[in-house]
Amino acid sequence: MQPTHHQPASRHVAVIGAGAGGLVASRELRREGHKVVVFERGDQVGGTWVYTPTVESDPIGLDPNRTRVHSSMYQSLRTNLPREAMGFRDYPFVAIEEDEERDPRRYPGHREVLMYLKDFAIEFGVSEIVRFETEVVFVGLVEGGKWKVKSKSKRGEVVEDEIFDAVVVCNGHHTEPCVAQIPGINTWKGKQFHSHNYRNPEPFRDQVVILIGGAASSADISRELAGVAKEVHIASRSVADEAIGKQPSYDNMWLHSVIKSAHDDGSVAFQDGSVVIADIILHCTGYKYDFPFLETNGIVTVDDNRVGPLYKHVFPPALAPSLSFVGLPWKVVPFPQFELQSKWIAGLLSNRIALPSKEEMMEDIKAFYSLLEASGIPKRYTHNLGDCQFEYNDWLAALCGCPVSEEWRKKMYLEVSKNRHARPETYRDEWEDDHLVLQAHEDFKKYTL
Ligand code: FAD
Repeated sequence: MQPTHHQPASRHVAVIGAGAGGLVASRELRREGHKVVVFERGDQVGGTWVYTPTVESDPIGLDPNRTRVHSSMYQSLRTNLPREAMGFRDYPFVAIEEDEERDPRRYPGHREVLMYLKDFAIEFGVSEIVRFETEVVFVGLVEGGKWKVKSKSKRGEVVEDEIFDAVVVCNGHHTEPCVAQIPGINTWKGKQFHSHNYRNPEPFRDQVVILIGGAASSADISRELAGVAKEVHIASRSVADEAIGKQPSYDNMWLHSVIKSAHDDGSVAFQDGSVVIADIILHCTGYKYDFPFLETNGIVTVDDNRVGPLYKHVFPPALAPSLSFVGLPWKVVPFPQFELQSKWIAGLLSNRIALPSKEEMMEDIKAFYSLLEASGIPKRYTHNLGDCQFEYNDWLAALCGCPVSEEWRKKMYLEVSKNRHARPETYRDEWEDDHLVLQAHEDFKKYTL
């Protein structure tokens, strides 16, 4: 793929969302000379890191008319990545020891991440181009390959017909709950919550709770619940047979296989044969991609949580590069990856970088989907990058003409995963990769001195 030799172009670009993705996308777009408007329905930058004690009116998130809350942060949340690895590549997330307001821990609380993102927005002048309390309600194609964006202010005024050359979607994907399907659940009398509406363990005090899920938040929440609930039962798809049963070092926590059925006498049966009479089911079962404002005449769809067809998780070939998505991959280190995706988008929009032809992109996507299918990977895991994330990042970096991921960051990610596995309860405070922390700080001198 060769760079084009066209004149650099400056585009009028709408960025939807001022979370980490929208902030870095805006910075990269502006660095590349584009004119950017950021639409943000909240009243501050930071997206999911803006903690609120408020929860939605339907605690399980099924009622389409429920009151909405964007963030899924819980009160006690500390990051599950160390700050060195988590931060943007050229704006290190370093501890600010001299400021008492800040949380200098290596795995800080959510407020520290929000403060870092706010610092980033100020440092790069992004805050000034955000239209706060302005929700995008419609994005659609108009003649000439441009995009119409309709937005609504908090007071309900709808702004129609703003036309942009390009739209970058950065609306996040931890807001629309995905709920486990349980046979018989409609007759079951207990309460159900989704972790989107979990803030602290108080509502679960003295209750028998079944928590569904085996990912990061379920691990944190189950431990927190064990401190107040009568019993905590974890139902997980990925549990090994030998791990099923009462958990060592807890007197009120059990691990089970998946739930088989729920019954009107309050009982819940698991596939491993165990049965529990429960008060609450807490679904820690993840989220759905959702773009309620986006009208592409069926070109981009969400099917079983696959957003597609997308070339490298960013561009729908038929609409590239004027429509793009930042931040869809999961099981990744998000911020540095958002940064690289954003550089790619910005460079393409200015004609500095070229895309393959639409046909080539479609071929690539088809080959990717076939590979997933042949490997038995379900559609809903399409955007799960996991082990491939650094290969993907380095591919992006090469296209953008910037350095590949730092060796220390790659190694640190592996070390952290191992440490989390070995010390699930204390990994945030005990580690053995100080040599990598030193390397990271050596590297940060490029940006902080
Ligand atoms: P968001 O942060 O969700 O931002 C999207 C923004 O878009 C929001 O501000 C929203 O208000 C706005 N928006 C949405 N729709 C519209 C609309 N129609 N019009 C206008 N504005 C709109 N990552 C880590 O790196 N480390 C961690 O330890 C970590 N822990 C996490 C813990 C939890 C519980 C969750 C949910 C996520 C965690 N993450 C973590 C991942 C986190 O989501 C990403 O780090 C990142 O913050 C996502 O940024 P984003 O910009 O893609 O989305």
